[in-house]
Formats: sequence, C-alpha cells, structure tokens
Amino acid sequence: MSESTIQLRNVNKWYGQFHVLRDVNLEVAKGERIVICGPSGSGKSTMIRCINRLEEHQEGQIVVDGVELSNDLKQIETIRRNVGMVFQHFNLFPHMTVLENLTLGPIWVLKKTKAQAAAEAMKYLERVRIPDQAGKYPGQLSGGQQQRVAIARSLCMNPKIMLFDEPTSALDPEMVKEVLDVMIELAEESGMTMLCVTHEMGFARRVANRVIFMDYGQIIEQNVPGEFFDNPRHERTRLFLQQII
Ligand code: ADP
Ligand code: MG
Repeated sequence: MSESTIQLRNVNKWYGQFHVLRDVNLEVAKGERIVICGPSGSGKSTMIRCINRLEEHQEGQIVVDGVELSNDLKQIETIRRNVGMVFQHFNLFPHMTVLENLTLGPIWVLKKTKAQAAAEAMKYLERVRIPDQAGKYPGQLSGGQQQRVAIARSLCMNPKIMLFDEPTSALDPEMVKEVLDVMIELAEESGMTMLCVTHEMGFARRVANRVIFMDYGQIIEQNVPGEFFDNPRHERTRLFLQQII
C-alpha cells in the first residue's frame, strides 16, 4: 500500500460525559476513497470533524499529511489548507455571489490576485457544470446547485484531502444524482484522497476502495464495497444494511 496520509491511533473523544469516539484506529492511504456509514449518532461526523480539527480529540493521535494534530495554531492552519470539507448544509456565504464565495479563500488565504482566483474559480464551476451561475447568490440556486458550488469552493483551495459529511442528505431526491455525478467524476479523475460519510450505496460501490461501518463510536467493520454489502460479517452491520437498502 502507498504512503498513508491520515492516521488515527486509539483516538478517544468525549462530549462532557458522553464517550463519542472509542479507540478509533484508521489508516488512509494517499488517493484512497473511503465511504463511512452507520446509524445516526454513531460518531461519523465527529470522526471526520476531528480530522480537520473542527473538533478536538482528548486521547490518541491523529496525523494528517505528516502533521500531528495538536493545539499549535500553525499546524491547524496547515491542516485546514490541505483538507477541504463539504457539509450537509452547504455553508455558503449568502450575501456573496457564487464567484465571490469561490474566490474569497484563494485571495485571502492563498494570496492569489483577484483575476487569477476568478479564472480558477470559473474552471471549477465548469467542472461542477454550473459556470452560468457565477453571478448569482446562493439563495437563487437550487440545493443541488448550491452543493456543487460548495464542492467547487473546496476545490479552489487545492486540498490534498476532501471530507464530505452527508453531502446529499439534505437534498430533494431529484438533485441527489447531479451532486453524486460530480463527486464520482472527482473521485475517478482527480485521484484525490476522499472520505465521505454517506448512505448512498450506489456511490459507495462505484467509487469507494473501502467502506467503513461505525456504531456507538467504534469502527465495527470495514471491507471492499462488494464484500461489505454482499457479505457483511457483523450482525449490527447486517441490521443496518437491511434498514437502508
Ligand atoms: P453521526 O454523524 O454519526 O450522526 P455525530 O458525530 O454527529 O454522529 O454525533 C455522535 C453523538 O455525539 C450523538 O449522540 C450526538 O448527539 C453527540 N454530539 C454531537 N455533537 C455534539 C456536541 N457538540 N456536544 C455534545 N454532544 C454532541
Ligand atoms: Mg453526522
């Protein structure tokens, strides 16, 4: 296996008294695409939010692209620069146009010129198939379009790793496919490391190298998609899959 880009070793996290991540161990190889599934409340969001330090873990070790996560602000900045994240609720700035949403980070963080940032933003908007929406405000777009803007915005920062947290679960059914298609294309063409929390099994079968099942803050089972879905080993995985398929 090629060099690993994300390592979690015996990671534990509590929210107050509540033990949300229990001895989580995970190694992600460069270019690997992982789908994470599991019941609501099992700790999926918390785990991926710990990877870009939106949440802090209390025990264990998380290393991202060779940098161990600690309270050092410089390191957090480095991590955030290398790791893009797309949320369930797009989190676009409502008072800025699509193009402004896309160029803000590149101009202020990556110190690009406005023209350069705009040219690159347009390239990514083409990639997510909405270059014609550049001048609109998020509120003027459909949910599927807004999520594609959010994906393009992340890509503008040139991340090495992309994290997706249920990117299609807030969308109306007819918009799910347009977002999944963009993500499939990204997975198949960019070779980027991707971690995606989703229950879209078609997506998982098509692009994931590995599917991980979480329950009660633990990784219960992981396997290549075919084996995972057709031949789950654990009773809890079986029960979960029965509910969602
Ligand atoms: P999932 O994404 O798998 O649905 P989460 O990681 O969001 O699960 O949450 C795991 C558990 O932690 C849930 O029981 C949730 O209520 C709890 N939780 C999540 N965020 C917080 C928080 N900021 N403070 C306290 N409890 C939280
Ligand atoms: Mg979640």
